[in-house]
Amino acid sequence: MKQTVLIVGAGIIGCSLADELTRRGAAVTVVDAAEVGSATSAATFAWVNSNDKSPHEYSRLNLLGLQAHERAARSAGKGGSRWFHQIGNVQIAQTDDEMAAIELQVQQHAAKGYEAQLLSAANVRALEPSLQAPRLKGGALFPKEGWVDTLTMCSSLVNRAVEAGAVFAPYETVTNVQPNLVTTRTPDGDVRHRTADVIVLAAGNGNRGILSTAGIDFPTLEPTRSGSSGKDSGVGIISTTGPVRSGIRHIVRAEGIAMRPARNGGITFADHPTGGKWDLDDPRIWTVPALLLDRVRELYPSMKDAATENVRLGIRVLPEDGLTIADWIIDDHSLYAVATHSGVTLAAHLAETVAEEVLTGTRHESLESFGLSRFSVASETAEAGTK
Ligand SMILES: Cc1cc2nc3c(=O)[nH]c(=O)nc-3n(C[C@H](O)[C@H](O)[C@H](O)COP(=O)(O)OP(=O)(O)OC[C@H]3O[C@@H](n4cnc5c(N)ncnc54)[C@H](O)[C@@H]3O)c2cc1C
Repeated sequence: MKQTVLIVGAGIIGCSLADELTRRGAAVTVVDAAEVGSATSAATFAWVNSNDKSPHEYSRLNLLGLQAHERAARSAGKGGSRWFHQIGNVQIAQTDDEMAAIELQVQQHAAKGYEAQLLSAANVRALEPSLQAPRLKGGALFPKEGWVDTLTMCSSLVNRAVEAGAVFAPYETVTNVQPNLVTTRTPDGDVRHRTADVIVLAAGNGNRGILSTAGIDFPTLEPTRSGSSGKDSGVGIISTTGPVRSGIRHIVRAEGIAMRPARNGGITFADHPTGGKWDLDDPRIWTVPALLLDRVRELYPSMKDAATENVRLGIRVLPEDGLTIADWIIDDHSLYAVATHSGVTLAAHLAETVAEEVLTGTRHESLESFGLSRFSVASETAEAGTK
């Protein structure tokens, strides 16, 4: 008989898992409190990279993520991905200090075998002819990096799973979880009980609340508010203009700004590629997009008539150490959870490895460092330290 798997969450992680598990023969149901790809996966810079990531195991996990996107894109003719735009990332330097930092970064990446090329100012201008950067010193090209159109990825994968027999139930909020059973509530107030051989929680920032109904403390961070402790997760601001002939050909990063083409023919921009770090209740948030658009226009005069159409506040899905959690919650293998930052980069690789673990119990070596035991070890050590 087919193994039944219930996935909670239709973000980039849940949709990728739904597709992979269905292709491997499981009977999959996905429930989401809202629509496909509408939470953090809609408010992301979506840069696929393993650039400057640490520790080593996380850097490698991200590299495997990038390679999994490449594989999916290569199989495009056979119904593979149309969402990974592998256009490369150009980082520019306008001061000697910035150039020195880029030189060091390129050296470090080259030593690890991660593709990175140092660029002269002339090289940068050749790659980005519309860029008008005063005092341009040079830069670096990371040719394998790119960005993902997350809405197309999420909806294509969930549609493909449904066409192959999976069930998708939007607007069902999980209110309780127990081994092999979730309780959900619809906007009409209908309560449903759904059972499965395995339940996989891929509910992003929802995992913590769902698991608290079973008395389990899941180690992800709450978004920061002013005055809260520094350990909490920051909020990122992601803005997108309407369609524009910008001439921006790559992901482009300069001091205080990151930009890339967007799915609507406009430009998506942020103060940092991962959207900066803001308190959720900081009123300055709403002044940031206009200031950043000025910076974009300074570098690309071709953007002078562009207007911001969409601003999203993204709340990071952040395990306490800022990395990834992919692990069984219950030892009897009835309940699994995934929560990660860099989820756009990691989704395709996590789908392959988590599906394997859920269906066969075999844990991929790249997940070894990303289990839950590292948090209990940390808290036991901290407790011992206070005694
Ligand atoms: C500003 C910003 C910039 C980023 N930039 C990058 C980047 O450049 N590159 C990169 O790789 N990553 C980036 N990330 C991280 C990446 O976007 C996330 O790791 C990823 O989107 C998380 O996907 P997810 O599927 O786990 O969560 P989500 O997309 O949040 O999906 C979770 C789903 O679960 C559902 N859900 C929640 N609670 C319940 C419940 N109780 N019942 C039913 N359903 C529920 C939600 O409705 C949602 O659809 C960025 C994140 C932010 C915030």
